Amino acid sequence: MQDFSNPNGAPGADPAHAMDAALYRNLVGRVADWGADYLGSLSERPVRGSGVVGDTLARLPERPPEDGLGEAGWDTILGDLDRDVVPGLVHWQHPGFFAYFSCNASAPAIAAELASATLNTNGMLWATAPAATELEMRMCDWCARLFGLPDAFRFDAGTGGGGVIQATASEATLAALLAGRTRAVRAGASRDRVTVYTSTQAHSSVVKAAMVAGLADDPGDTSRVRTIGTDAGLRMDPGALARAIRADVDAGLAPALVVATLGTTSTGAFDPLGEIGAAIDASGGAPWLHVDAAWAGAAMVCPEHRGFAAGIGRADSVCINPHKWLLTNFDCDLFWVRNAAALTGSMAITPAYLRDKDSESGRVVDYRDWHVPLGRRLRALKLWFVIRHYGAAGLRAHVRRHVAMAEGIERALRDDARFELPFARSLGLVCFRVAGPDERTSAVVDRVNAGRRVLITPTMVPLEPGGPPRPVGRINVGTTTTDQAAVGVLLSELRAAAGSVVQSPA
Ligand code: PLP
Repeated sequence: MQDFSNPNGAPGADPAHAMDAALYRNLVGRVADWGADYLGSLSERPVRGSGVVGDTLARLPERPPEDGLGEAGWDTILGDLDRDVVPGLVHWQHPGFFAYFSCNASAPAIAAELASATLNTNGMLWATAPAATELEMRMCDWCARLFGLPDAFRFDAGTGGGGVIQATASEATLAALLAGRTRAVRAGASRDRVTVYTSTQAHSSVVKAAMVAGLADDPGDTSRVRTIGTDAGLRMDPGALARAIRADVDAGLAPALVVATLGTTSTGAFDPLGEIGAAIDASGGAPWLHVDAAWAGAAMVCPEHRGFAAGIGRADSVCINPHKWLLTNFDCDLFWVRNAAALTGSMAITPAYLRDKDSESGRVVDYRDWHVPLGRRLRALKLWFVIRHYGAAGLRAHVRRHVAMAEGIERALRDDARFELPFARSLGLVCFRVAGPDERTSAVVDRVNAGRRVLITPTMVPLEPGGPPRPVGRINVGTTTTDQAAVGVLLSELRAAAGSVVQSPA
């Protein structure tokens, strides 16, 4: 019999056998059992660890082991995971996770991640992973249909558009900025006169993209980044956008990108795309219009939740994160462009070692030209597994279940005089304040989170146009495991916290 032992380590620790089927079956099987136990125990755990800085570091040896534990050491390895790492985590899949925007997972998507990791193919060119590329193209088209996006964003429409899976919405925004800048430069603009527009409520990733692309030195550098004011509902003011673009055109600057948000991070506001498109047309500039629907876009699987996207036909690009709210594990951001050549023109570069006859034929998609990284893993598999497992109907049910729970939370808070709802509920996002001085809202959020049974997020937004930012609590219903029992815990924690900071009116 072959000897698998590593002369320096335990039996079974020989890397020459790292991909042996028996080892794979054993370790993956063990991790599947561990994962099932973890998921089964989630609701009994606190939603987050104690959060003591340095705690996990102190549990981990400073130096790596010289000798491996091998196959026989997996009781120890998984035991250490449970003992030293898991307790220090925030459990994003916990039913009581109502913080930020959710980070969805599902058994079909986890299975796809495993299959993808097993194949571990690198789809940098069509030629290096033809089926991976074509599966991704088809999944982008499927999703464009699921969300009711304009035909022009699909490969199969044959008009030069299509989609790609980026890791995150931040990378999609950066890609849109690079595409918009290249388009402006090719139209004759000077690269150092390019400007970017978004609302004061846009995600910080827009300004970050400007920093990465060299348009801003720091978040406060407004020389080429304009943050447009919002109305009482925290939606971008299209008139102010038109004036800002016009002023920049008149000053010899080159507007290259407008980022509109469908579902802002703080309050879930929807920028008015139709009016924004009209404002751009009337402004004298020709910026690329990118729609960041990272969170709310998932709801567009439901026809009743497409109204907020009216006017999306004017967009040059759109992104939606299935990893936020569509049962698909992180990371998975769908990014569609109307004109793929405009995007790839900003990033394509072909050294000799990547030259390929299929690429040169122009008949294939080489996804390396659609984003910053060259190498890329097979993310499309998780969309394929998820969509085939649940179907469009299952995806709609997922969104509707969460929206219904958020409606229930909204009703409960509205019926309690200690709470105020400063903004309309947006899909699964409910924003609240506690009646009275600002400190009460912050105190209630802190108390709720300190209990570690549920997790919510504080934010700061103006309560009237141009006003100062004021504290608001955010409750996002979107975690796959969240159920009515978790909603009940959330409400009882909120009421208890409110009771401790504010006297209930008689
Ligand atoms: N855009 C919006 C509206 C978001 O809410 C977020 C994150 O919550 C992002 C972009 C950034 O997402 P990602 O982590 O995919 O970069």
